[in-house]
Amino acid sequence: MCPGSFDPVTNGHVDIIERAASLFDRVNVVVMVNAAKSPVFSTEKRVAMLRACLSHLPNVTVESFDGLLAVYAAQKGATAIVKGLRALSDFEYEFQMALTNKRLNPRLETVFLTATGDKMYLSSSLVKQVAQYGGDISAFVPEAILPQIEAQFGKDRS
Ligand code: ADP
Repeated sequence: MCPGSFDPVTNGHVDIIERAASLFDRVNVVVMVNAAKSPVFSTEKRVAMLRACLSHLPNVTVESFDGLLAVYAAQKGATAIVKGLRALSDFEYEFQMALTNKRLNPRLETVFLTATGDKMYLSSSLVKQVAQYGGDISAFVPEAILPQIEAQFGKDRS
């Protein structure tokens, strides 16, 4: 399972998911509906954008879930959670989450993949910040979803 907010999906996410797809037979990308966050893109849009970016990966499915990931992973029979680590700043939070999930579901392992060098600075919040001020985000997100993101921030490409 590859969980996240994906608000919106970036080239960094796609990189981690592609690598997870080559390590595992099946990968379930899960858009977590986190009530504490107020996303820019609706859950449905985030799922649709992920599907558009991952259509080249036949063993990857995308869905959304509102609740505890450890419980959902057990329901689905998932063996591992795959997460990307960009820098030390990601580590403390991810470590805490991994330990909590292990406590809630002892059969679930968390696997960390290090970010690829040229994508390690990428985050959804960076994409939103640049897009909000009309900047060029074409290097940060897959081409398939570029028009949708720009439209959300009021940029007309025509
Ligand atoms: P963000 O922090 O960008 O809002 P999410 O909550 O959607 O991301 O993150 C989902 C997963 O993707 C997390 O494990 C996060 O560490 C990972 N991730 C996000 N951006 C990158 C990147 N550029 N390279 C590697 N992993 C990443």
